[in-house]
Amino acid sequence: MQWLDGHCDVLSKMWRDPKYRSFYHPQSSLDSSYHHLWEANVVMQVFAVWTPESVPKHHRLSVALKEVDYFYEEIVRDGSRVFLLTEGNQLEECSRDRMGALLLLEGADALQGDLANLRLFYRLGVRQMGLTWNYANDVADGILEERGGGLTCFGRQVIAEMKRLGMILDVSHLSDGGFWEVIEEKELPILASHSNCRVLCPHKRNLEDEQIKALIDRDGLIGMTFVPAFIHKPSVEATIDHLLRHIEHVCTLGGEDHLFFGSDFDGLDSKVSHLESYKHLPHLLEALHKHYADDLIIKWAWKNGSRFYKKHLSS
Ligand SMILES: [Zn+2]
Repeated sequence: MQWLDGHCDVLSKMWRDPKYRSFYHPQSSLDSSYHHLWEANVVMQVFAVWTPESVPKHHRLSVALKEVDYFYEEIVRDGSRVFLLTEGNQLEECSRDRMGALLLLEGADALQGDLANLRLFYRLGVRQMGLTWNYANDVADGILEERGGGLTCFGRQVIAEMKRLGMILDVSHLSDGGFWEVIEEKELPILASHSNCRVLCPHKRNLEDEQIKALIDRDGLIGMTFVPAFIHKPSVEATIDHLLRHIEHVCTLGGEDHLFFGSDFDGLDSKVSHLESYKHLPHLLEALHKHYADDLIIKWAWKNGSRFYKKHLSS
């Protein structure tokens, strides 16, 4: 069964510590190393470019560019084993031996208030962007920003330019106010790359039922994520079975055709036991097979995500 993963944090890990610049090494300590992804049959992976809050604002553009450089130097290289995916028709080319890789800018902080930087990231291959990480920036408020504001004037310009370029908007991390503003943007493809259900686990990074329904109505995607704190409270007790409850809940809301996975591997401080890297994917598959038919699992692992990207990435 082939797999599409909607979110991993390999690039920021590579930036933080040279020991992680080892994507192809058989003993790589990355959760999403080439060998783990190959063994798990992940044929498309979304790579987030993310700069930690500790990076001063005026350095965030240069850090993001460094991460894009790692993407090309350490992962894509000559394109023979991993290729940059920017167009819908490339979904058909994804295979175990030549994985498609999509670049996602996680947080518009790196734009540093200039639309020219958005256009430059697009030219570097970025096709998906989240407006914020957890806090406020000059585009919008993040979900942990207490005032809970929506988009700024510059944020609206960013949305208009994303539409013009044909980019995909990722609402994971965005404030609830911001979510409801962007959901009105009819021509903008929207997904949540790594968020679960708030009704089952009351973390603000998760989505309310009304938000999940709105994403379904918009023909968007909801990426079930393996972050213990978004799966179960207390997070130390989170299991694969708890993750399955989120999947079931999205289905009861009508999301069977809109569910996919956004592991957040390599961005996890703690992990669900038996789901600690892509090496452990068979454990998740085994649990899914106990409850669901093959055709559903195939949808969640590959079909829903690939249909969305095929439809929304211009060819
Ligand atoms: Zn994230």
